[in-house]
Amino acid sequence: MAKSKFEYVRLFETEDRCLPNTWIVVRVDGKGFHKFSTEHEYEKPNDMRGLSLMTRAATAVMEEFKDISIAYGQSDEYSFIFRKETQVYSRRSAKLSTNVCSLFTSAFVYYWSEFFPTSKPLYPPVFDGRTVLYPSDQNMRDYLSWRQADCHINNLYNTTFWALILKAGLTPSEAEQKLRGTFSADKNEILFSQFGINYNNESDMLKKGTLLVRRKVPVPLPNGGTREKSQIVQQHVDVIGDDFWKESGHFLTA
Ligand code: ATP
Ligand code: ATP
Ligand code: MG
Ligand code: MG
Ligand code: MG
Ligand code: MG
Repeated sequence: MAKSKFEYVRLFETEDRCLPNTWIVVRVDGKGFHKFSTEHEYEKPNDMRGLSLMTRAATAVMEEFKDISIAYGQSDEYSFIFRKETQVYSRRSAKLSTNVCSLFTSAFVYYWSEFFPTSKPLYPPVFDGRTVLYPSDQNMRDYLSWRQADCHINNLYNTTFWALILKAGLTPSEAEQKLRGTFSADKNEILFSQFGINYNNESDMLKKGTLLVRRKVPVPLPNGGTREKSQIVQQHVDVIGDDFWKESGHFLTA
């Protein structure tokens, strides 16, 4: 096609290619989900339908972008880690974050009714997205550890906060007041002595968040043989220690 005299305006677009040979992480996070979850009557502290819908949307993203090796989600956020060598969208940062974020958001709405069959979204949910680069394997592992530590801290707080409200009848501000300045040990103690809850027995999905990894699984063929198929599976495991990386860290070197 012939170029118009207006073509020069494209030169105003700036280069945003991610540095080669670095881990690319795209994280999406719900906008105002404190309010969104309240208005959509999410169960507190943790609505399993909400968490499962997040994981369904994240799976749709991994099905589309095969260069995502692993994803980690908790609360209203999901992180997607692209393999270091990916050339998708020529590693253009905004292309990556906007495509991931847009697909995640539309999948969240697309699958909404499977998880919330009796209610419609009251307004279109919004997610933000960002691209962050991590140059070393240790940085990338520390990134996941950071998100998982955040999951733990928030979940312990929310579990105690909502027990005080729902089981002890405190108002939200009384519960907040009671928890101000407390350490993890104090919250564990409140849960145990006041509500008979042993935090260790809470489900791993809530304590650890959700990891999505690709696994080769054998599928039976009509002729009796099998063939290997790659599947996306959920895990709720510790990523801070070394065990996960010894067992499932092949993608680090793959
Ligand atoms: P921002 O726009 O700055 O991200 P936000 O209200 O989304 O604001 P976050 O720090 O992202 O704040 O926290 C998300 C909040 O959404 C949680 O604090 C919690 O109240 C709520 N939430 C998200 N998922 C669930 C869920 N599955 N069950 C119950 N509440 C949830
Ligand atoms: P890319 O992912 O690179 O953007 P693309 O297929 O979206 O690939 P575009 O250059 O953005 O390519 O062009 C959009 C194409 O979508 C058009 O060429 C046209 O074929 C189709 N399209 C978009 N809107 C309409 C419409 N309203 N009616 C018919 N075709 C449409
Ligand atoms: Mg926030
Ligand atoms: Mg949010
Ligand atoms: Mg959040
Ligand atoms: Mg297009």
